[in-house]
Amino acid sequence: MGREETYIIPLKDLEVGTHQYQYTLDDKFFEEVNGPEVQKGNLQANVTIQKSEHSFLLTFRLDGTIKVLCDRCLEEMDQPISCEEHLMVKFGEDKTEEDDQLVIVSEEEGEIDLSWYLYEFVALHIPIRHVHPEGECDEETYQALRKHLSVMRGEGEEENESGDADNEAEKETDPRWDALKKIKDNN
Ligand SMILES: [Zn+2]
Repeated sequence: MGREETYIIPLKDLEVGTHQYQYTLDDKFFEEVNGPEVQKGNLQANVTIQKSEHSFLLTFRLDGTIKVLCDRCLEEMDQPISCEEHLMVKFGEDKTEEDDQLVIVSEEEGEIDLSWYLYEFVALHIPIRHVHPEGECDEETYQALRKHLSVMRGEGEEENESGDADNEAEKETDPRWDALKKIKDNN
């Protein structure tokens, strides 16, 4: 460990102005963050911090691919991720002010760990439904899976749930997307 220290930015020590940070988010990064949605990937991340008198505007640019399991055949697939996200950071004590766009950091602490935000923004951009391009699914696994699910469907509720997960996912909108859209609209 110790590698993640580079993701910790001493905000209070930064001069007013623009600061750039570059990261490679590889398998090791995802292993260390240990989040639920993404375990492997290879992305380039550029973070710009614009410090003004009383706040910090963080811009995250992410480009690359992550490995996720295909919804159809459950085999690993490459999911491209390309996005730009913004975050405002202010010093203060009142955490209740925080929302999707604003992070409050205590002045005493004076620093921010970018690794979790980088991870969150990657995870936020995984499409709700992700499948291999047509013809690239592992048909053997897919057929075995179908068979397995139809056998199990009669027996246990749990399997029923996972069998229907595809349809559920298509109907539901991820609330995080709505929050994201709001951020974009405001800019
Ligand atoms: Zn597939």
